[in-house]
Amino acid sequence: MTRHDVAVFGGGPAGVMAALAAARGGARTLLVERYGFLGGQSVSSLVTPWMAFHSFTRQAVRGIPQELVERLMALGGCPGHLPDPLGVAATLTPFDTELTKLVLLRMAAEAKVELLLYTFAFGVERQGERVLRVRVAHKGGEEWIEASHFIDATGDADLAHHAGLQTRSGRESDGLHQPLTAIFKVGGVDVEALERHVVDHPGEFVLDPRYLRGGMPAIAISGFFDAVSAAREAGRFPIARDRILLFGLPRRGEVAVNTTRIQRVDPVDPRSLSLAEVEAAGQILAVHRLLVDAIPGFARSFILQTPVQTGIRESRRIVGLYELCAADLAAGRDFEDSIARGAFPIDIHSPDRTGVDCESGKRQSDYGIPLRCLIPKEAANLLVVGRALSATFEAHASARITPTAMATGQAAGTAALVALAARCDLREADPRLVRERLLRDGAVV
Ligand SMILES: Cc1cc2nc3c(=O)[nH]c(=O)nc-3n(C[C@H](O)[C@H](O)[C@H](O)COP(=O)(O)OP(=O)(O)OC[C@H]3O[C@@H](n4cnc5c(N)ncnc54)[C@H](O)[C@@H]3O)c2cc1C
Repeated sequence: MTRHDVAVFGGGPAGVMAALAAARGGARTLLVERYGFLGGQSVSSLVTPWMAFHSFTRQAVRGIPQELVERLMALGGCPGHLPDPLGVAATLTPFDTELTKLVLLRMAAEAKVELLLYTFAFGVERQGERVLRVRVAHKGGEEWIEASHFIDATGDADLAHHAGLQTRSGRESDGLHQPLTAIFKVGGVDVEALERHVVDHPGEFVLDPRYLRGGMPAIAISGFFDAVSAAREAGRFPIARDRILLFGLPRRGEVAVNTTRIQRVDPVDPRSLSLAEVEAAGQILAVHRLLVDAIPGFARSFILQTPVQTGIRESRRIVGLYELCAADLAAGRDFEDSIARGAFPIDIHSPDRTGVDCESGKRQSDYGIPLRCLIPKEAANLLVVGRALSATFEAHASARITPTAMATGQAAGTAALVALAARCDLREADPRLVRERLLRDGAVV
């Protein structure tokens, strides 16, 4: 059995960045992923656009995530960062999900990340506070993965959970989670007609007043409230959602529809998730029917792609050495051990009602994410990155978004390099050295 310097579990946005940072720094790095591709929910759940790389004052996420954007731009798979017409965030970054899969695999190969795809992690052996090895299963059977340092990028804190470390899940008051959403792509859209309708009927939409005249810098549409409520009254919209939300894709004529909503799902229970997939299928058909029947530009449209898995906004979060909270976000707070930055408002899709609680009116300034948010209590050589970081339900509803998840991944891979050089545990990695190295590598801390 090979012993790796760093083993990363989960090849989503956060895990890939962690593996790239570690491998580029010379660490023997293994990346384990259950699917046959990289990119996590950005590609499996068609979660586009990435938002936000910018706060209203500056670019808050750079480094390897920005490199990914530039590589996609070179292939025509991303128009770059565009102003957000909804005014929720400063920018949004549309990207082609299929090119993203290809580019991420290329980047991993170039950095000499060892890939173990089609492999699921389901157990952890630890001795005191140290993770010794992780148990995985694949077509060939079961095996143990050994490493000096472990990074849990499963999004669901699977490693932390299997190691018996404390996690939280759901809203503090009742344990309910934000709903799942099956985003789907629609082709054959007359985008000009759609855009014209929005600009001519601003009262029906959430729209930054700057874009009332002169067209939108990107297709981002949140509204059609009347069409939705009429369809609901007619019994044709069985979805706890008050609006249609959709985003343009890099290819003209294609949009991603983020409108289905499946509430009261246990995001780590396969039986609950199976019911959710059935529910999602019915909702996708209902939403597309409404688009064709009632929304300008969709008369000749068709369902182009559905997700590999319905998107999960939140599941387990670790209890870390620090828990990010809403007051930190409101204050745009900085920390001595800040290793990444968030730039998105608190955006809570209601667990039990039809609306969205979003603090977009406040124009979120960017805020620091301490390294301590990635370090579970009582774990010496394990970091948890991406959407399972340590935060309250509210703060998580901002910090969960993809650019920030990617930035925490790069930070964790970098912390592993610092720990390897100092021959210490991940928990002991000096945050000042992590920050210095991240800055050298183009990240924002
Ligand atoms: C409906 C919805 C809308 C969203 N909207 C936006 C948006 O507009 N903009 C934005 O930037 N973000 C958005 N997000 C948030 C964003 O998609 C996620 O928070 C982001 O994907 C987090 O990245 P991650 O790497 O932490 O986790 P994930 O993307 O979930 O990746 C986890 C990876 O780990 C793998 N994995 C899981 N368990 C195991 C295991 N046990 N063994 C091996 N592999 C495993 C998975 O297959 C996956 O590849 C949205 C999310 C959802 C669901």
